[in-house]
Amino acid sequence: MRALTLIADRQLELVDLPPPPPPSAGEVQIRVKAVALNHIDLWGFRGMAFAKRKLPLVVGAEASGEIAAVGPDVSGLKAGDAVVMYGALTCGQCRPCREGRDNLCENVGGIMGFHIDGFARDIVNLPARLTIPVPPGVSATDAACAPIAFSTVEHMLFDNARLEPGETILVHAGGSGIGTAAIQMAKQLGCTVITTVGDDDKGLKAKALGADHVINYRNERFEHMVRKLTAKKGVDVVFEHVGADTFNGSLLSLKRGGRLVTCGATSGPTASLNLMQLFQQQYRIIGSFGASMRNIRDALVKMQAGLRPVIDTQVDLADFARGLERLESRQVFGKIVVTF
Ligand SMILES: [Zn+2]
Repeated sequence: MRALTLIADRQLELVDLPPPPPPSAGEVQIRVKAVALNHIDLWGFRGMAFAKRKLPLVVGAEASGEIAAVGPDVSGLKAGDAVVMYGALTCGQCRPCREGRDNLCENVGGIMGFHIDGFARDIVNLPARLTIPVPPGVSATDAACAPIAFSTVEHMLFDNARLEPGETILVHAGGSGIGTAAIQMAKQLGCTVITTVGDDDKGLKAKALGADHVINYRNERFEHMVRKLTAKKGVDVVFEHVGADTFNGSLLSLKRGGRLVTCGATSGPTASLNLMQLFQQQYRIIGSFGASMRNIRDALVKMQAGLRPVIDTQVDLADFARGLERLESRQVFGKIVVTF
């Protein structure tokens, strides 16, 4: 079977590996259909000194597929079923795992495609508990955007920021995979959405997606524009994932008692914090990483009901690196999906 492996920083190689053995007890064998790219793939591709991993490593963290075979003691799944795969090898035993909050697993084995072998291969065996069925009517390409991108946004907006109808939200990088999802989900809830983009073409696309106000951050300071657009009040929620370049401006964009939820730091991991501002303004800053099983199921239900992911580009498995370079260049609007 084909497998795409990272052999050194920025070096991918498509290799031929022996297929996995028949699934053992509690496992399913999955034929991979699509892998969606995220910034974590880019971090892994560039190389991260602090990440414990052994190369070569099969890449791919977010994927959909079809059950090819079912091992003993697996119920509720059969060959031919469409599924998505959880993006980390969680233990299934600890309390958070038993409650379906696998993103808080106390004995996590690693993130697929980052610490341990991922999904960019024809066939993979996986514990059945780490698969989530895809409802009818959702394509493999769309479903591939559920287990990390869409579910991360679900977790950020609803579990963590507790976004309410009628609130105003600032969504950073409205052209990114999670940015496009956040705009759509917040609009669907009935919020006013302000978003930032790096060029006017993306601005038009973000408006078409439902954003009420678009700020080109290259032309104007977004925190000033946010205060102008909200009659100096600020927004209820900021959806952060840009990090160093935007974090302080994001805090300045919040109203008193506002919530900032963050899941990323694409522009750098370090920011300073004015503690007086933090407590006087009664901000709530919430870190968010990954998603629960329920978030993934909810994301898939939304897709089935018509909330479709924005797909920027589809590339073949052999062009995985080209997809990553496109992601790195920031010349994307939506998700890049690798199909098999
Ligand atoms: Zn666990």
